[in-house]
Amino acid sequence: MSKKDSLKEYRKKRDFKSTSEPTGKKKKSSDKPIFVIQKHDASNLHYDFRLEIDGVLKSWAIPKGPSMDPRDKRLAILTEDHPIGYAEFEGVIPEEEYGGGTVMIWDRGTYENIKGENDDEEKVKVIKAYKNGHLTVFLHGDKLEGGYALIKTKRGKGDQWLLIKMDDEYADARRNPVSSQPKSAVSGRTIKQIEKDEKS
Ligand code: MN
Repeated sequence: MSKKDSLKEYRKKRDFKSTSEPTGKKKKSSDKPIFVIQKHDASNLHYDFRLEIDGVLKSWAIPKGPSMDPRDKRLAILTEDHPIGYAEFEGVIPEEEYGGGTVMIWDRGTYENIKGENDDEEKVKVIKAYKNGHLTVFLHGDKLEGGYALIKTKRGKGDQWLLIKMDDEYADARRNPVSSQPKSAVSGRTIKQIEKDEKS
């Protein structure tokens, strides 16, 4: 499947005359792959976790957001690919539009694919790891640092994955950044402030 086709569903769901979300034509400049976690106050508040893989942002909706505790398994529902430029989107999607509600860049940064690094095996390419349903990434964010595994489960229609903090030196069961660091990583705003700024 070409990269263009991969964003077809994203475009089909949105009316770009009405929403200020990116159309997906913009290219990124940095060479390191990026990640973003967008707090999305839609009909249900959730966290959209996006990883740059193969020229697009592979995306999962995580109802509870990420945990720092390796004992937690956070449900992550695979959603449609998003364009790279979406990582810079913070604002309000009109109520009548798909995903209507406020979007905050809760955390962002770069990541390393570390799948296979601890074994004798060669490092598995990130696109292959994704297709195999088992990603292992090291996040370098403002809030999140350290290794995370994303594992596809056999439940649902193949869209149910689990996000699990790896048991490394960055794991910390007492830290809960979702509640202790609720503001935007880029603007320092709360969801309410983003909403208010957009309306004024
Ligand atoms: Mn969302």
